[in-house]
Amino acid sequence: MQIVCLDLEGVLVPEIWIEFSRRTGIPELSRTTRDEPDYDRLMRGRIEILDRHRLGLADIQNVIAEMRPFEGARELIDWLRGFCQVVILSDTYYEFAAPLMRQLGHPTLFCHDLTVDENGRVLGYRLRMRDQKRESVRAFNALRFHTIAAGDSYNDTTMLAEAHTGILYRPPANVIAEFPQFPVTQNYDELRAEITRAGLRA
Ligand SMILES: [Mg+2]
Repeated sequence: MQIVCLDLEGVLVPEIWIEFSRRTGIPELSRTTRDEPDYDRLMRGRIEILDRHRLGLADIQNVIAEMRPFEGARELIDWLRGFCQVVILSDTYYEFAAPLMRQLGHPTLFCHDLTVDENGRVLGYRLRMRDQKRESVRAFNALRFHTIAAGDSYNDTTMLAEAHTGILYRPPANVIAEFPQFPVTQNYDELRAEITRAGLRA
């Protein structure tokens, strides 16, 4: 039995923090791990900015609800679910992803949690575990699934390596150059073809 593990941001939906920054008009929120490699510092900075702008969880979810998955993302997931298992492996937070997952038909999502107080103020975050994408694929392999993983960025490369088949989807040029072992796909038709090929090899 196959299981397809898909990254969320950059594959099915736009980068959430970058879109969120655009929609709220708060440019500091578009900083990513490329600007601040210390993830904890980056997240604490983001939470402080949310506080300063008095943005609680409900406001954040209202903004995110205005976002749309990429055209064809829902159809891709529906197609996959017709013949195999699908899990979204993401480094986002359940609270952020909820409005987007609704539009994707509520596929299974493994990601992290925000801690929020009773007034909806964001206090902090809880990572499920270190490198949960790779650990999830490793666990699926142990459960004797044939694993196929697709993602767009550095934080996906360990799960791509762990999977029986790893596929890059619209990656930046530096990721293509550093990880020539993974096939590169640029649209959902190409991704479908790669997944089908991997399934036939299984
Ligand atoms: Mg991504």
